[in-house]
Amino acid sequence: MIEINNLEFRYGRNQVFDNISLSLGSGKIYGLLGENGVGKTTLLRIIGGLLYPKAGNCKVFGIEAGKRLPAVLQEIFYIPEDFVLPPVNILAYAQRNGAFYPSFSLQQYKDYLQEFGVPAERKFTELSFGQRKKAFIAFALAANTKLLLLDEPTNGLDIPSKSQFRRLVASALTEENTFVVSTHQVRDLESLIDPIIILDNNEVLLNHSVEEISQKFDFGSDFERLFNAVVSDKAKFRQLFN
Ligand code: ADP
Repeated sequence: MIEINNLEFRYGRNQVFDNISLSLGSGKIYGLLGENGVGKTTLLRIIGGLLYPKAGNCKVFGIEAGKRLPAVLQEIFYIPEDFVLPPVNILAYAQRNGAFYPSFSLQQYKDYLQEFGVPAERKFTELSFGQRKKAFIAFALAANTKLLLLDEPTNGLDIPSKSQFRRLVASALTEENTFVVSTHQVRDLESLIDPIIILDNNEVLLNHSVEEISQKFDFGSDFERLFNAVVSDKAKFRQLFN
């Protein structure tokens, strides 16, 4: 689904990726973990075709993401951490924008909105930040794209909404699609993500399934414990997993 080879990226002189390679398959919800500033958003934007590699490549469905081919873009949905939505009615938005996504389902959108408790008759601009986020997540899930990229999706959600989020995302996954969810709040995604990718400065420290990790390191399904262990003893994990 996603093949990243020898990727290099920098903003001006600020080198974010020097030479990273990564492979992601379908039917999975990848957790993209890493401390603030390691490049999670940058990586999601490169995969989504919104930023271009300085060297190496990033292919989605076998095609360079940076080419931004309509056939590829219509199968990718990216939810940034923060976003602005137009002052339009939530359902009217779907009637206009759903057309960009061939598998978009209005019925699913309505169902997801209802599950999230978002009043569908309102305008986006009349919602709180958390409600807007839930409305946009509902739209993204209903778009049924092959690839869904979610950047810090649980930021701004209250505790019940976080568990609704985990439930809806888990139920929306099929064998054909891939979700990549970034977070620096690992606990929010516990029991949802598998495999786990841990990014560090210029390096992919880990990209393995929970089962593979558990065989080599007993973290008792405590993702925060795993994350802290990996970042505090990188050499040990490089040796264990490479
Ligand atoms: P994360 O999502 O892991 O917090 P980002 O991908 O947002 O990390 O940022 C990676 C690095 O790139 C950080 O050092 C950040 O300061 C820098 N950065 C992000 N966006 C820009 C930009 N538009 N211009 C310059 N530097 C940026």
